[in-house]
Amino acid sequence: MSDTIRQTMRDDFESLDAFERAKEHAYRYAQTIDARAVAPTEEALAALALFDEPMPEHMGSAVDIVDQLNTLGGPATVAQTGGRYFGFVNGGVVPAALAVRWLSDIWDQNSALYVMSPVTAKLESVCESWLTELLGLPSTVVAGFVSGTSMSICCGLAAGRYRLLHNAGWDVNQQGLNGAPPLRVITGEQCHATVKKAVTFLGLGLNCIEYVPCDDQGRIREDALPPLDEHCLVVLQAGNVNSGAFDAFEPVCRAAKASGAWVHVDGAFGLWAAASSSLSYLTRGMSLADSWSVDAHKTLNTPYDSGITLCADRDALVGSLQTTGSYILYSEQRDSMLYTPEMSKRARGIELWATLKYLGRQGVDELITGLHQRAVQMADLLVQAGFSVLNEVVFNQVVVVGNNTQETQQLIEQVQQSGVCWVGGSVWQGQNVIRISVCSWKTTEADIVRSVEAFVAARKAINSI
Ligand SMILES: *Cc1c(COP(=O)(O)O)cnc(C)c1O
Repeated sequence: MSDTIRQTMRDDFESLDAFERAKEHAYRYAQTIDARAVAPTEEALAALALFDEPMPEHMGSAVDIVDQLNTLGGPATVAQTGGRYFGFVNGGVVPAALAVRWLSDIWDQNSALYVMSPVTAKLESVCESWLTELLGLPSTVVAGFVSGTSMSICCGLAAGRYRLLHNAGWDVNQQGLNGAPPLRVITGEQCHATVKKAVTFLGLGLNCIEYVPCDDQGRIREDALPPLDEHCLVVLQAGNVNSGAFDAFEPVCRAAKASGAWVHVDGAFGLWAAASSSLSYLTRGMSLADSWSVDAHKTLNTPYDSGITLCADRDALVGSLQTTGSYILYSEQRDSMLYTPEMSKRARGIELWATLKYLGRQGVDELITGLHQRAVQMADLLVQAGFSVLNEVVFNQVVVVGNNTQETQQLIEQVQQSGVCWVGGSVWQGQNVIRISVCSWKTTEADIVRSVEAFVAARKAINSI
């Protein structure tokens, strides 16, 4: 590297100008988030074309780059940190978590091994024990900090695959799946797409899935479970991605345990119900499972990305994710990469720790309970306004339809264009629906009222065309 380039970089760290500029832009964004349209405007989207530049030949200015990102990129963001974004199941963000994220970004820790970042290893351990307690899981459960539930389901099923085959006298790491005793995946017909992805990714193949029929809320029907045995990976759901419904964990886990099967719970957003005093009943029996996946970036409102894989069988999880190399020296301390597919990774445990410490048990409880209360309010007001809510609002999800499929589609478009709030579409029980997910601490009663008004205005506009 030439001296000029290195000197420029030194100067940028010395002057901190780019950082100051980023800070100013960031503060303005944070302080005006509720006043802006939730979805980006057409002009903002069109301006993104200005990013289509040739790859620069020479070094640029850090301040100019920050400014360009702010000018072109800022308006083309979606206001997910405001109070009226109800798309997918995307959480808002907790301030203390963002603040420590900034600090730890400056630290730029690789959290693969203890020796690379003792502080991250310590905070991951703290998170592991706080989380198992908060979620009512056995204290022996270990946690891996991954990108999200997609990866977490892969880990849980990899651990299950390892354990079931090991029990059958087959070392999957050495022998692979060719010729292995066939495994069966038992899951609800409304399992999340990422369960299927994990099944394909792990080489089990979609043909090994035996889908269990679901009831009108999307819960698996226990009476329709196939006979279970010691070759079964059972995948249950804490929070159906449309309705928010929870499977009946207790009876299924007991049946699975009795037959030697492995149970994984996909609780991407719903596992957090266990930390709410009024909603924990939804997760009864969940602790009997073998592995769990959950996203802190959803219901807990940490910054992206923050998924957690939890496993009661440490040897199976570590065994299925093992890495060896002459330079990898495991320590007596927590080595994060033992519990994740990744080796190098950022220090997600830091934001998670800050979020849990900041909110405390009471804050977490109120956050989760509040999402449910706002979802119930949304459903009630929509029904009063003449819309049909199709699900029992047990958690934070509301499934709504207009008078017919066409009106439902038009409502989604109109509401999105209004900029007042953002809701997405889905297909549920064979029907086109509007899916509303209340997933941010920021959503107030007034936000719900305004959003329902946007629905009413949208319907009026559609019917007057
Ligand atoms: C979001 C979600 C996933 C996928 O999680 P990512 O964090 O997006 O990888 C899996 N299952 C359910 C039920 C979800 O809501």
